[in-house]
Amino acid sequence: MDKQGFTTGIVHGDRSVGAEHGGVRQPIHTSVQYGFERVEDLIGVFQGTKKGGFNYARQGTPTTAALERKITSLEEGVGSICFSTGMAALTAVFLTLLRAGDHVVSSRYVFGNTNSLFGTLRTLGIDVTMVDSTSAANVANAIRPNTRMVFVETIANPGTQIPDLAGIGELCRERGLAYVVDNTITSPALFRPKAVGASLVVNSLTKTIAGHGAALGGAVTDTGLFDWNAYPNIADDYRRSPSKEQGLLQIRKKGLRDMGGSLSSEQAHSIAMGAETLALRVAKCSENALALAQFLEGHEAIGRVFYPGLKSHPQYEIAQALFKGASWLLSFELRNADRMIEVVNALRLPVKATGLGDTRTLIIPVAPTIFFEAGPEVRKSMGISDGMLRLSAGIEDTDDLIADFAQALKFAV
Ligand SMILES: *Cc1c(COP(=O)(O)O)cnc(C)c1O
Repeated sequence: MDKQGFTTGIVHGDRSVGAEHGGVRQPIHTSVQYGFERVEDLIGVFQGTKKGGFNYARQGTPTTAALERKITSLEEGVGSICFSTGMAALTAVFLTLLRAGDHVVSSRYVFGNTNSLFGTLRTLGIDVTMVDSTSAANVANAIRPNTRMVFVETIANPGTQIPDLAGIGELCRERGLAYVVDNTITSPALFRPKAVGASLVVNSLTKTIAGHGAALGGAVTDTGLFDWNAYPNIADDYRRSPSKEQGLLQIRKKGLRDMGGSLSSEQAHSIAMGAETLALRVAKCSENALALAQFLEGHEAIGRVFYPGLKSHPQYEIAQALFKGASWLLSFELRNADRMIEVVNALRLPVKATGLGDTRTLIIPVAPTIFFEAGPEVRKSMGISDGMLRLSAGIEDTDDLIADFAQALKFAV
């Protein structure tokens, strides 16, 4: 069959590989153990000679495997591994592919918990240098002989900075560095990091891909572009596999089997259902975010608005060139930060909550909550002011959202 479109592939994916009784979805496999008639097959699954078999659910089930196939196809990769959360996926990537004495160059604009995880890596002897990734030259200047990996997020949360994704990809290719891209905010519906040379793509499935805010999950996808044969930290046991498979094999064995951040079949199923409407939701969320950004930018009570779909955004051109839409993430500042509590409390539709990429609009003041522990210095380096509000646009009717903000902003003066 010809290569199918994005949504066609998701909604027919399970059926095309065959689900029992003609089911249109993979069932929820609750077995922890998977038994075999012949013990040779059990041995083959353990040794990796019998492909596609299952033995113990910590390393995956048919339900998580079905979701992995979907994510792989969405990212046009060669394989994926699902985890219990996005943070478990990131932790597995860093802890399985890096060793004490290694060095990582990361964008300075990263998710708060990722920033905190880098603190843990430093205590283990893995050094992380944070740079302003909007220029690839800053990344190049930070590279050392022991640098193994470069890490960026496609659109930074909450400041919406966009790294020089293509320039950094080119740099990583030239220098033979693993390029790890967190695609959570854009999702493969808006952008495929493979297009800029990413080696590994991480998605928090909790956010855009599931969309319903009713399941936690994360995934790592190998794009097939990186030569793992040339990567120093692959264990001898996994060197025997073809180059393209070594990275994911080590992440699955060390990160999933040994560290155990496994996704349950129930959650995998729930995420797969959400993913069926991914492209539709992301289009509507992006439309709502743009309408709100334009409304806020023109409002007298509002200071700066950060949204890559606005011409005023410093990386507007990159967003136009690389992304199919500017996503649901939008941040803005009240001119009078003292009125923040009144304004947010006056909003009726947005849920005052953390979380992102939901069908419902969510709003949160950034400095006193998600970036509180990071402290004032980190906040300053990430461009987070005390009056910044972060919004995750949902799929509500656009006019309702605008009307709600219009009434709440009366409290801003
Ligand atoms: C939420 C988020 C994560 C972590 O995902 P969880 O599923 O909540 O663990 C990682 N990266 C980014 C950019 C995120 O927004």
